[in-house]
Amino acid sequence: MESGEINEEFDVRDNGQRRYAPVGKVLAAGIGVLGIFWLAASSPGSASDSPEVRVVVVPAPPPPVSAYDTLGPGETLAEMLAENGLDGRAVHQLTEVVREVKNPRSLRPGVVARFSGPPDSVPSSVFLRVSPDSLVHLTWSDSTWASSVRTVPLTTDTLHLAGLIDSNLWSATLSGEVDKLADGEFQEYVYDMADNVFGWKVDFTRDIRRGDAFRVAIERERRPDGSVRLSRFLAIELANRGRVFQAIPFTRPGGHKEYFDGEGEALRGTFSRYPVSFRVTSSFSTRRYHPILKVRRPHLGTDYGAPRGTPVSATASGTVTRAGTWGGYGRMVEIRHARGISTRYAHLSSINVRTGAFVEQNQMIGRVGSTGLSTSAHLHYEFLVNGVQRNPATIDLPSAPALEDEYLEDFRLIRDQALGQLDRVALPVLPEASRVESVVAD
Ligand SMILES: [Zn+2]
Repeated sequence: MESGEINEEFDVRDNGQRRYAPVGKVLAAGIGVLGIFWLAASSPGSASDSPEVRVVVVPAPPPPVSAYDTLGPGETLAEMLAENGLDGRAVHQLTEVVREVKNPRSLRPGVVARFSGPPDSVPSSVFLRVSPDSLVHLTWSDSTWASSVRTVPLTTDTLHLAGLIDSNLWSATLSGEVDKLADGEFQEYVYDMADNVFGWKVDFTRDIRRGDAFRVAIERERRPDGSVRLSRFLAIELANRGRVFQAIPFTRPGGHKEYFDGEGEALRGTFSRYPVSFRVTSSFSTRRYHPILKVRRPHLGTDYGAPRGTPVSATASGTVTRAGTWGGYGRMVEIRHARGISTRYAHLSSINVRTGAFVEQNQMIGRVGSTGLSTSAHLHYEFLVNGVQRNPATIDLPSAPALEDEYLEDFRLIRDQALGQLDRVALPVLPEASRVESVVAD
């Protein structure tokens, strides 16, 4: 019952047409419904002697009326509440309850409140949807305001999904529980896989091929409207150019979540695969960049198209050996890492680090630009071993430490459950005929 009521309140907000007049007008327009009762009144002893009929008009309790108001740009919560007839005490109390969930000053325009109460009166009940997951409720009863915070009722499920890649991840043919996907949900999983799970093993901007495939089991928390509040991978399998990678998340006590293969080896490398988020570069990957360098000399780096200003991060920890303008590189950063490896990030619009500074892996060192020998905004990235440019994709780079023995027993339990979930959907393969076709096409 309780959750049904909450559901309804959240739904009311979801379906709120926001075409209601301010509450004052609605309340004034409320009309009490009159009930008319015919009463036969007679004294017990004289029922048959002197029948008498009286008409009595009794007002039925008027139904409560509701109105919605939306927080406008530049408007404070207190102003909106006061405008809808709440007195100073109610405004203060509601603001304090909101504070338990969120700083009232940080509420964005568009937050919707529902006011209800008897007609021609100030509201006796206020619902305020502070966030997608929290509803604040204030009711007037027994001469006092009672307040509560309600949390949206969540349901948990596990999503099983598989994909067969045509030319890139976006053209994957999905199978499994595709009908359970919310709008834009699949894209989020792709970004997460590319940036946080397999980014060290596979360059999703250029290594993905027709016939590659993946399957995944995802645990989700969903709101009543079907949107996803939280999700986490239970297990992922990725087949890429004949190799199969498995990823299972595990968190060491006091540590961060990390992905391991079935044997407990880390997927994370000491070098990130790319210095710009896949989320940014993916939409630019089909374009070609600065033919100038390619014409003049062999191209010794990798270009990542990205909008000017996109953050650039160090692919591994190390010491900055150069931070400034350097010929055709324009503004660039060079970092010296362990094992005779160094990396360069060129054509930057701005630089965040100084020569001699130590930087951590994934630390932001500058922003994408088009300085130096460059015709459009992009990042030129070089990977050098003992001073010679190499292709980082073809070099066997060291991985982060494997899971320690003490955690392996726990990990295996989690792994076996996770892989059981993964087996609910098959890893797709190209049909024989098209596999031959694709070989010919290559
Ligand atoms: Zn380049």
